[in-house]
Amino acid sequence: MQNNHHKEHLYKILVIGDLGVGKTSIIKRYVHHNFSPNYRATIGVDFALKVLNWDQETVRLQLWDIAGQERFGNMTRVYYREAMGAFIVFDVTRPASFEAVAKWKEDLDSKLTLANGKNVATVLLANKCDQGRDVLTNNGIKMEQFCQDNGFVAWYETSAKENINIDEAANCLVKHIIASE
Ligand code: GDP
Ligand code: MG
Repeated sequence: MQNNHHKEHLYKILVIGDLGVGKTSIIKRYVHHNFSPNYRATIGVDFALKVLNWDQETVRLQLWDIAGQERFGNMTRVYYREAMGAFIVFDVTRPASFEAVAKWKEDLDSKLTLANGKNVATVLLANKCDQGRDVLTNNGIKMEQFCQDNGFVAWYETSAKENINIDEAANCLVKHIIASE
């Protein structure tokens, strides 16, 4: 039931990043509350819907999982169209997946802008933090600086396996989307 006091938001959210970083696992954990250690590449575009109560309002997040196309390192404009936010994911155990992050961000920003001309709010996820944080510490990456330089609103160390920081990261993204509307 909808009335004048109850607003509903529907946001398309992209989840992008290299193959195997844990995109599908993060969505599964967030939406279906489970985790499977068996590797299974996504085939075809996949969606999941997460419904949040946000103050007195309802927020529906339509999470778009990329579908085996991540091997090409970019997506089509059609895929990005009308998204309101994005997660870019890398795997803390695989430096190459971090090196790809800036490329993913560039691909996203070059193909998608909001009506106001701004880029969509994007949160960076350093996934598989249950496996250690070598990539983060070894390269001496200053993540705050990296986020500033590359236009991320925030970053989180996440684990789909251990359910760490996924709700927090999503709430952060929603907060930024709502603030920018
Ligand atoms: P995608 O290709 O980005 O969608 O990655 P998947 O979600 O298919 O995950 C790739 C592999 O990494 C699978 O074997 C997952 O079980 C595993 N994986 C995903 N997230 C985590 C995590 O947070 N911790 C650990 N240890 N493994 C993970
Ligand atoms: Mg996948």
